[in-house]
Amino acid sequence: MRFEELRLSEPLLRAVRTAGYRTPTPIQVSAIPHVLVGRDVLGCAQTGTGKTAAFALPILQRLSQHEVRGLPSSSRIRALVLCPTRELAQQIHDSFRTYGQYTSVRQAVVYGGVSQNSQVRAIRAGADVLIATPGRLIDLLGQRLVSLASVRMLVLDEADRMLDMGFLPDIRRILAQVSPQRQTLLFSATMPEEIRKLVTDILHNPALVQVARVSSAAPTVAHWVYHVEPPQKLPLLTRLLSRRPCDRALVFTRTKHGADKLTRHLLRAGLRAAALHGNKSQGARTRALDEFRSARTPVLVATDIAARGLDVEDIAHVFNYDLTSDPETYVHRIGRTGRAGAEGTAVSFCSSQERANLRGIERLLGKALQAATTPTEAVERLRISGAPGQRLRTKSSAMRRVYSPC
Ligand code: AMP
Repeated sequence: MRFEELRLSEPLLRAVRTAGYRTPTPIQVSAIPHVLVGRDVLGCAQTGTGKTAAFALPILQRLSQHEVRGLPSSSRIRALVLCPTRELAQQIHDSFRTYGQYTSVRQAVVYGGVSQNSQVRAIRAGADVLIATPGRLIDLLGQRLVSLASVRMLVLDEADRMLDMGFLPDIRRILAQVSPQRQTLLFSATMPEEIRKLVTDILHNPALVQVARVSSAAPTVAHWVYHVEPPQKLPLLTRLLSRRPCDRALVFTRTKHGADKLTRHLLRAGLRAAALHGNKSQGARTRALDEFRSARTPVLVATDIAARGLDVEDIAHVFNYDLTSDPETYVHRIGRTGRAGAEGTAVSFCSSQERANLRGIERLLGKALQAATTPTEAVERLRISGAPGQRLRTKSSAMRRVYSPC
């Protein structure tokens, strides 16, 4: 399926091309047509599936074509997106900006923890789409600094998380101020009873769109773990990456700062590496990705959010420099390797602080990660006993396997 077949307007298709997307993701294929015709949607999908574009693209299209149930286009805040955290709000805001860059639709974002003044100014300057966390929006409504009277499209994103965070009363108060003559889209990774009840209350004959939860990894991926403490991680990674020409390796760090720092160290060690994270400009991200795709820069150090939409085939090695505490994120990370039956290798560095994360990952995978020995110990073992390590066939492959999973 191509984006063109989803009947999106040219300015949106252009934005999608600029973002570097080649084909729509399954949730986009299923949701976009329903949203475009004005139907309510119940989406069972988690972050990382492309769900933001699944609602943002058709909302932008309807707003730019003034199709929203009989409202004059000059009326403001015609679409409201509620989400649980400020990070997500910011991310959704960025997505609307990216996808709407060739339209005249304007957006604003409000969330707590920062001064409200500039947020209110952005709304007053004219926003068609408002992205908000419930608490801050309630504050602004209470001060009569914002009106939801013109809202005709409402999105509840990560509804289960909003409920977990105790936002249900706020959500209900907000809903009371939005016209019942609206289109409602609700996305949730899980469907507990509370969400089902909310769905029955606020959605009308919704189209159900669903993408499967990620819970297993490709069987062709070998999972290795090095038990190393934080100070040993950098020297170990440098050695593993320089030992053999890993064609392309994706290295995950927990933070943007960590990604930058690690990249600087790798560059200093003479490795061709680049960082990919949310603080990089779109131009810098595109460049880093192109160079990684062509293997001119074979090592890409990324944060989870930046790597989510990464569409690069045949990554031989994925390194978990920081071991994620979310097992599904592990599966997402290593989903970049071992694609389409190809062999892939996932290498995790686990410090004593990260043991609990490892257990969670092993539970989800239903198996233990193979413990790898650090390079020097492995060489010693080979020399003394000639003993092969795991999965050995010939001595040279033994050397490679025991020495490092690279
Ligand atoms: P989301 O699930 O909305 O958080 O999106 C996850 C990531 O996927 C984001 O980084 C998007 O930029 C990216 N993305 C969304 N749609 C596509 C697509 N059709 N092709 C490639 N990447 C995409």
